[in-house]
Formats: sequence, C-alpha cells, structure tokens
Amino acid sequence: AAKRAFPNVADTDYADKNKREKAQEAFRIVRGQLGKTYLPLVNGKYENTSESFDSVNPSNPKEIVGKIGLLSVEQAEQALKAAKAAFPQWRKKSAKERADILRKAGDLMEQRRAELCAWIVLEVGKPLPEADGEVSEAIDFCRYNANEIERLDKGYNYDLAGETNRYIYQPLGIALVISPWNFPFAIATGMTVAALVAGNCTLLKPAEVSSVIAAKLAEILVDAGMPPGVFQFVPGRGSIVGEYMVKHPDVNMIAFTGSQEVGCRIYANAAILQPGQKHLKRVIAEMGGKNAIIIDESADLDQAVAGVVHSAFGYSGQKCSACSRVIAVDSVYDTFVNRLVEVTRSLNVGNAEDPSTKVGPVVDSKARDRIREYIAKGKEEAKLALEMPSSEGGYFIGPVIFSEVSPTATIAQEEIFGPVLACIRAKDFPEALQIANGTNFALTGGLYSRTPSHIEQATAEFEVGNLYINRGITGAIVSRQPFGGFKLSGVGSKAGGPDYLLQFLEPRVVTENI
Ligand code: GLU
Repeated sequence: AAKRAFPNVADTDYADKNKREKAQEAFRIVRGQLGKTYLPLVNGKYENTSESFDSVNPSNPKEIVGKIGLLSVEQAEQALKAAKAAFPQWRKKSAKERADILRKAGDLMEQRRAELCAWIVLEVGKPLPEADGEVSEAIDFCRYNANEIERLDKGYNYDLAGETNRYIYQPLGIALVISPWNFPFAIATGMTVAALVAGNCTLLKPAEVSSVIAAKLAEILVDAGMPPGVFQFVPGRGSIVGEYMVKHPDVNMIAFTGSQEVGCRIYANAAILQPGQKHLKRVIAEMGGKNAIIIDESADLDQAVAGVVHSAFGYSGQKCSACSRVIAVDSVYDTFVNRLVEVTRSLNVGNAEDPSTKVGPVVDSKARDRIREYIAKGKEEAKLALEMPSSEGGYFIGPVIFSEVSPTATIAQEEIFGPVLACIRAKDFPEALQIANGTNFALTGGLYSRTPSHIEQATAEFEVGNLYINRGITGAIVSRQPFGGFKLSGVGSKAGGPDYLLQFLEPRVVTENI
C-alpha cells in the first residue's frame, strides 16, 4: 500500500485579497521595527558585544534592516561551555518531548508567517512569493524532523532465541550549524532543528547578511521551549569565530550550507584532531552546483522555456539548485534560445518589495561585483544573447543570457550564483548528457523530453542528486524531493529525507544474553 504522504503546509495564496492585505500590513509593522539591534544568545541570555554589523536591504542599501552584535572568541568559548553543561539534561529528554518543541516552533512560524516573509524580503531581497515558500519549507522541516526522530527512536530489534539485540540511537553532543543567506530562514531552520531534535546542543551561526532573519528564528525556538544552553544563537565573523568553533575540541559535528570554498575549509579544519579531542567530527556540507537543463528534440518548448526561466532567474539565480546551463540539441536550439530570450525580456527587475518584481537584487555589493566579472568574462567567451538593464539604487543585475557557449568555458564551469545563463548547443541527446555531466558538480539537473528512452537514460546516467523531468529544477519540497547532491556539490545526505537525521545521531547496539 502507498505510504501516506507527509502533509506539507500550503503556501500563501496571494490571489486572495485578504492575504495580500495581511502581507501589506506585515510590511508596515516590520518597517516600523527596522534598525533594531539583535544580540547573540548565550546560555539563555542576550549578550552585549563590542563589535556589530549593519545588515542592509539589498533593494535599497541605505536602509538598515538591523544591527547584529558579533560574538567574540571569548563569548564563543562561553557558549560552548554552556552547551556542554546543558547536554546531559537535553539528551535525557524523550524524543517526543523534543519533537513537541519543534511542532510548537512550526506552529509559531505559521502564526508569524506574514511578518517572517516581510523580514526575508527586506533583508535578502527575495520577492514575496518565494519568501513565502521558504517559510513553508521551514515549517515542514520542523514537523518532518519531529516525526522522523519519533520513527528513529523506536530503533530496531534483532532478537534471537536466548539473545536480544537492540539497535538504538543517541545524540552526538554539540552541533555547530553554519547557515547561508540565500535560504536564510528555511535552511537555517532545517539544519538547526534536525540537530536539536536528535538531542544535540546546537549553536547557530548565520551568514552575516542574513542575521536578522536568523535572530527571528532564534526567538521562535526560545518561545517554543528550547532550554538555555541547548540552543544558542552565535552570530560572528566566519573567519574568526566561525573557524574557532569549527576547530573547537568539544564540537562533535558541523552542518554547513554555503560556498564550496568555505565548505572545503570547514571539512579540512574539522578533520584536524585537536588537543583534548576524543572523537572525530562529522561534517555535512551542502555546497554549489552548475546545474544543467537538457532540451531534446521532443521537448514541449513552451513548458521548457517557462521552466528554464523560473529555474535560472528565480531569486536572481542565487540558489544552489538554480539552472545556470541549458543544453539544447541542435534541431531545436535556435527556436528554443529565441523564445527563451523573448520571455526573459518580459521579466521585471527591481525592488523585491514591489509585487510586480520577478528578479530582485543580488544580496550585496561583493556578489554584484563578482557576477559582473563573470558577465565580462562571458562576453569574451561567448555570444551575448540578452543583457537586461540593471535598475538603479540597489544591488540589481538584470538577467543575462549567453549563447553558443563552449561546454568548457569558464561561464559553463564555474558557479556564478547570479542571473546569468549559459546556452550550449549539442549535436544530439547523448552528447547533451555528456556535456551536462562534464562539471565538478552534481546537484540538480533537468530534462525536457517526450522520448521514453531519453528519460530512461537520463534517470540512469545524469549525475545529479536531484533530477527533474519536464519541470523546473528548483523548489524542492520537504519529504517529496529530499534535497542534496554529490561530487563537489557536497557531502552528507539529503535534507528533508529519511537519512538526514541519521547524520546527527550515533547508533549503538545492546546485546543481552538471556
Ligand atoms: N532546496 C532549494 C531548492 O530546491 C535550494 C537550496 C539552496 O540553494 O541551498 O531550490
């Protein structure tokens, strides 16, 4: 019999006038709270800091969304001590007690959904419908992981006559979560609640530019009942405090989502056995992608254009799941690229708060400058098919499409993390698949085709963690599309899937001779 599906929470229907009014009202309320200070939460207390960081609105960087107190190394040490002290009590709680705190957190997120969406739009420049999807994902992560720990807590029995064998799970100890700015709420929640519900004392260090949203998550977890020392919010400089915690002998595991460069550094640092350390650290690192969508000669081109546009330019391409390469077979290449360019031209670029905006800003000036360098590089390497104007005022970059890109060009190999798409011509489907597999990454991939043998071959040979056939390649849903990749896209098992929590647990077997 089919297993009953996990009941994912529904997104907000903005076609409903009441919902739109509620969203407007939330923006008014949140605007009234801009510029406040958010402090690290150490052992249940908000700690003053000597350093702080201004988090700004990427659509209008003059607007300060919030000031974040940055933890010092001494304060990080205190937080780790508090986590260690809180662990014996936390691990003793039943799976159900911990799961119920997550369920409460999910309910609080649902109540605060409109407000949380407004913070996401204003702090990281994500258009409202996509911000709303993120809140849904976070709620799902809470409820899904709550169910998961209750499932795993039952363990397994491998009994024989005269002998019982109990297979059980225990937490690891202290987990450090280092979360990204591009899904500032959903991914921070997903990693943090998984670590917590498994019984680990957990420290959350968010990407600096999304610290205000992370502070809202911290509020919610405390309100839901996370005890002092069990959950701590530790914003700080990655290169100093982040690295200090990664190397700390008391940390048992690190869950990271972000760039390949930082992921590889964490992996290396975590591998060094520190004086006094009595375990090896586990690392989950979800890193980049150079995701391709293949269009074959049997594809429904209307469907393919819509799917590629959304996957490439949704949140300005700042998703590790985003489509950054499209590989079309020769017989449909010209028609496809022409239609793609025309549809992309109709996208509105601008302030993320404006309901007509499809492509908002990129996250900060560093990102904007890096993307601009790639665009300049692309102009040397390939044919410019479309460059939309970037509007003034914020960190805007209009969508850019390159055509006739060589599969080995820089813009076809390196993750740009912006609204830049490389179109590659392939002789036929086998060659398209070979090109698709020709990068260091293996995260998401797509195929538009009505040819069963192509679909079968892609299923077997397209080297990606998440393959999508005849649809876009972003927006994985908890428990329906557990998400994550391999090769240089990362290590660790899929978020929102049945193996995820295992990474936060230590299995043990108790055998009794009876
Ligand atoms: N899970 C997201 C998606 O499927 C992407 C996550 C990321 O960019 O890190 O679109």
